[in-house]
Amino acid sequence: MPEKFDVIVVGAGPAGAACANVCAKNGLKVLLIERGEYPGSKNVMGGILYRKQTEDIVPEFWKEAPIERPVVEQRFWMLEKESMVSMGYKGKEWAQEPYNNFTVLRAQFDQWFAKKAVEQGALLINETVVLECIQEDGKVVGVRTDRPDGDIYADVVVLADGVNSLLAKSLGFHKEFKPDQVALCAMEVLNMPKGKINDRFGLEGNEGCSVEIFGDATQGQLGTAFLYTNKESINIGVGTTLSGMIRAKVKPYELLEYVKNHPMIRPYIHDGEPAEYLAHLIPEGGYYAIPKLTGNGVLVIGDAAQLVNAIHREGSNMAMASGKMAAEAIIQAKNKKDFSEAGLDSYRTSIFDSFIGKDLKKYKDLTHTFEANPQYLNEYIPLMNRAASQFFTIDGTPKREKQAKIMQSFTAGRGKFGVVKDMYQAWKVMK
Ligand SMILES: Cc1cc2nc3c(=O)[nH]c(=O)nc-3n(C[C@H](O)[C@H](O)[C@H](O)COP(=O)(O)OP(=O)(O)OC[C@H]3O[C@@H](n4cnc5c(N)ncnc54)[C@H](O)[C@@H]3O)c2cc1C
Repeated sequence: MPEKFDVIVVGAGPAGAACANVCAKNGLKVLLIERGEYPGSKNVMGGILYRKQTEDIVPEFWKEAPIERPVVEQRFWMLEKESMVSMGYKGKEWAQEPYNNFTVLRAQFDQWFAKKAVEQGALLINETVVLECIQEDGKVVGVRTDRPDGDIYADVVVLADGVNSLLAKSLGFHKEFKPDQVALCAMEVLNMPKGKINDRFGLEGNEGCSVEIFGDATQGQLGTAFLYTNKESINIGVGTTLSGMIRAKVKPYELLEYVKNHPMIRPYIHDGEPAEYLAHLIPEGGYYAIPKLTGNGVLVIGDAAQLVNAIHREGSNMAMASGKMAAEAIIQAKNKKDFSEAGLDSYRTSIFDSFIGKDLKKYKDLTHTFEANPQYLNEYIPLMNRAASQFFTIDGTPKREKQAKIMQSFTAGRGKFGVVKDMYQAWKVMK
């Protein structure tokens, strides 16, 4: 009789490692399977890790986790070709416990995070690919791996295999994602001495800064670019919906080169020594793209379940929170000895009752609306830049006259009615 586990978790990213941790902590026999050489070896992230959901798995993790910097400043840049409008928030309270969020390098963080699951008793095997779920009588009962004699059995299989989730797809939980439901993102890690980073971003000691960049960075396509400060490196990246890239006939590395050479961005990164180049998909289909989350003997979590809030660049936190919710549902199911879809259904309701379901529902129409109305990026961001330039140019024109001219420039292109309609529509999808 082959060895049987209570739970097999496929994928040792933030979702899988969180789920394995909570299951093992509660006495379940857990196997965590990762195809990479080690957890994190294949994983890509801009680099912002959220305190709350990480702390829910490993209390006071910042005292020992390989974090880069606590983020004390969040900036937003609305970019034009040779200008930008910037805004943001900087607060010293974020430099102290309990902090807000952190920059991390995933190759290091994921290894540490998976080790915490192992310390709770989970068994981690690397360099092992799960090829398919084994099903008997309409129920998932285990996984087939690429190892010799690679069938392994469990009461529940948790799919935490990331954005493509071929395993959930093969179970019929979702179809092939459409190009407007995923973003393609390219990023680079640029090494730079700590002092230089601090001078350029106006930081002290180990404080970090995150910059989200909209507008010209994506050449008019729906997406964002980012700059995040690590201890001795900067992460720079850019992504747009796959449909946007196809439409603009632009390749991810071309867009990244454009961003790196942009006159508003170049001064922050020049002299940076390229250390790593990465590209990855992000599930951005939002609420409507969430697949079936539970089946008989199986649950889907993290990116595999499309749980990403692209507007707030939250993914790792939703991955961890969904991993924890899945673990709690499995523990309940074990107590009831019912691993059927109905027995595991509390996971689905937890997701939709939590910030994950509520936030994804709040923004459910946003991506589609912004993609269908390119004026938000192509017209209003340039207008904002020109308005700021005019308003802050001291040329003897009375301020009221300037204001009137600015208002005229906003209505000249789309008309008063068009502007009101655009603003109402934007408010409706963000409210
Ligand atoms: C460029 C970029 C920037 C991002 N920036 C941020 C950010 O700043 N903050 C944030 O919170 N989120 C960010 N995200 C999103 C975040 O990275 C994801 O939401 C998060 O990693 C999801 O975690 P996960 O565990 O579900 O999936 P993943 O991290 O993708 O992990 C899946 C794991 O499963 C393994 N696996 C896959 N298939 C198999 C198989 N068949 N057998 C065995 N193992 C398998 C993979 O090797 C991998 O380790 C970003 C994403 C990208 C691409």
